[in-house]
Amino acid sequence: MNFDLLLELVKMAHELGIPSTFVETNCYWCGNDKTTRKRFVELLNEGLNGILISVNPFILEYVSPMRTERAIRLAGDVFGRNTMVYQEFVSQQFRRFKIKEILPFEEYLQKTSLQSLSYMELLPIGRVPYRLGYLFQKYPARQFFGESCSEELRRNWHVHIDNYRNYITGYCGGISLGDARDLDSILQGIDLDDRPVIDALVTDVGELYELGRQFGYSECGEGYISKCHLCVDVRKHLVHHTDEFKELSPSEFYTQLE
Ligand code: SF4
Repeated sequence: MNFDLLLELVKMAHELGIPSTFVETNCYWCGNDKTTRKRFVELLNEGLNGILISVNPFILEYVSPMRTERAIRLAGDVFGRNTMVYQEFVSQQFRRFKIKEILPFEEYLQKTSLQSLSYMELLPIGRVPYRLGYLFQKYPARQFFGESCSEELRRNWHVHIDNYRNYITGYCGGISLGDARDLDSILQGIDLDDRPVIDALVTDVGELYELGRQFGYSECGEGYISKCHLCVDVRKHLVHHTDEFKELSPSEFYTQLE
């Protein structure tokens, strides 16, 4: 969306000696060969090591596979074997089923099969329980009591920083460990007394449920597809009823869940 800023970031990463940098793209911008090649070359010249081309049925709802194919071909020319296609299976599937245009997710499923999803990382988290919950088996809340998220919330090998500068471990969007600009204080440790939601989650998801009930949360009659569904549903309720929990940030995350 902001190519000049991306170039600047790549340049900074290169100057700082950060290894193995790559950019992940959904290829929406790859409308013609000339611009696509030019931008790849510019990124390479600023020190970018590789490109990751995202291919999945959700991007297919907005981006023509013709653009994705163009990106794969030209990235191969420019970045060689440092071109990653994630996921190659889906890319081959589009070719096999001659899918060349944008397609709604339900039509993709009709054309291929429900089985296709078993090859994808469809994490039962975030908006998935609300939009695609019909694909999953559901369980009562108590099914997930006793499970701790200590590992997920202490994860140090794959983190995200959202566009509000929140530091997020793994895939737990909407749970901020702090301001990513102040990494030192995050690395010193999180004061759990100051962040009751995180305190509950590292102990037992059931404790988050109890915290939610104190603020009027009631169990969803249809059940939950995963512990993350229960977690995000309680958090959504909390954000809508109180601003007491600063770790539930950004609030915008919770307005986009339905
Ligand atoms: S239950 Fe919540 S905290 Fe635990 S992994 Fe899922 S989203 Fe993250």
